[in-house]
Amino acid sequence: MQNKDPEYIDYLKEVGELLKKQGDDFEEIKVLEKPQKAVEVSVPVKMDDGSLKVFTAYRVQYSNARGPYKGGLRYHPEVDLAEVKSLAFWMSIKCAVADIPYGGGKGGIEVDPKSLSEGELERLTRGYVRAMAKNIGAKEDIPAPDVYTTPQIMAWFMDEYSRIQGENVPAIVTGKPIEIGGSLGRDTATAQGGVYVLHNVLENIKLEGGVSVAVNGFGNAGANFAEIADKEGYKIVAVSDSKGGIYEEDGLNVEAVIKHKEKTGSVVDMAGAKNISNEELLALKVDVLVPAALENVIHEKNHQDVKAKLILELANGPVNKKASQALFERGVTIIPDVLANAGGGVVSYFEWVQNLQNFYWSAEEVQKKLEPKMNKATDDIWKFKEKNKVDMRTGAYALAVKKILEAIKIKGI
Ligand code: GLU
Repeated sequence: MQNKDPEYIDYLKEVGELLKKQGDDFEEIKVLEKPQKAVEVSVPVKMDDGSLKVFTAYRVQYSNARGPYKGGLRYHPEVDLAEVKSLAFWMSIKCAVADIPYGGGKGGIEVDPKSLSEGELERLTRGYVRAMAKNIGAKEDIPAPDVYTTPQIMAWFMDEYSRIQGENVPAIVTGKPIEIGGSLGRDTATAQGGVYVLHNVLENIKLEGGVSVAVNGFGNAGANFAEIADKEGYKIVAVSDSKGGIYEEDGLNVEAVIKHKEKTGSVVDMAGAKNISNEELLALKVDVLVPAALENVIHEKNHQDVKAKLILELANGPVNKKASQALFERGVTIIPDVLANAGGGVVSYFEWVQNLQNFYWSAEEVQKKLEPKMNKATDDIWKFKEKNKVDMRTGAYALAVKKILEAIKIKGI
């Protein structure tokens, strides 16, 4: 987690210089150095044993230049304001990369959700909504799932907000269960988007034979990615979660791993596979490494061990700036988070559109709309990075920052 100066400011400055060289000198870039609004609240919760606990929670609204603030709500013991600010900035970039009409925001509660009962989790979520209700809105700021937040949590969120408003407001949050206005395909969208992007990039970087993949993190993004990629013919040789990892050179049976995790709570100790540590997984000799858990798993102390040719950042911020630079210099292609995991945000947008129009699409329609969006974003970034001899992250940031700055300029300060 980030406690010092956020890295995104360094990226922003570099991209500002690059745009300037290309004749795009925007003074408005100063606006992007700070979030527009950062809210911290305390959420008191009556615990099951009768005691009272008070949780610290945040919502950062980074930019609404291109549309309402949009971004997930994270439940994690290490959430802090600096982290939520970075994540909210990345959401602003991500929505511009995917060309969906949103700005960026992010929320978080400092809590270990695994230590809470279902009832406590529900009361915490409803308390958060009551504390934030005046800051959010279906056309103002639309949260969504993120690390350790689920469709059920989004359902409580929507219900509490609707009670406060005195009317049904499904568009206040995305990633809801289908029964109450969720979109088909939203649960697998982050992973599916990542698979589309990977296919597309592999048309430019030809790899010999079957493509081997290791996935770090087995939550919504990682597990669905492993499942979809496996069906598409990629060889998933290793996966891991917070308790450790497993490896099988000839490829894991992903469906069996999912069942094993459902039964035991972890992927480790899977019959027929070798247990490995998370650090060992990151150093495997594979074609594609997919960090799909938290930030900063590849950093200055372990990037030297990475042997993959390609890194698909399904998590937000899994490769820090120093590691990113060193990997680029030694020829490793990093598909950045703001592109690789943008599929979740795109189908959130589709869900929101369906909620607002009150008319719903089939799973096929959702896929048919998601794929070209991911391909267009990937093509644009690939062309930019080839032309300017930069990495894909710089390309993504440059294109996105330019779009955001143009919006700020046109609207006026
Ligand atoms: N939490 C996801 C992300 O980081 C989804 C955001 C959304 O759907 O609004 O992209």
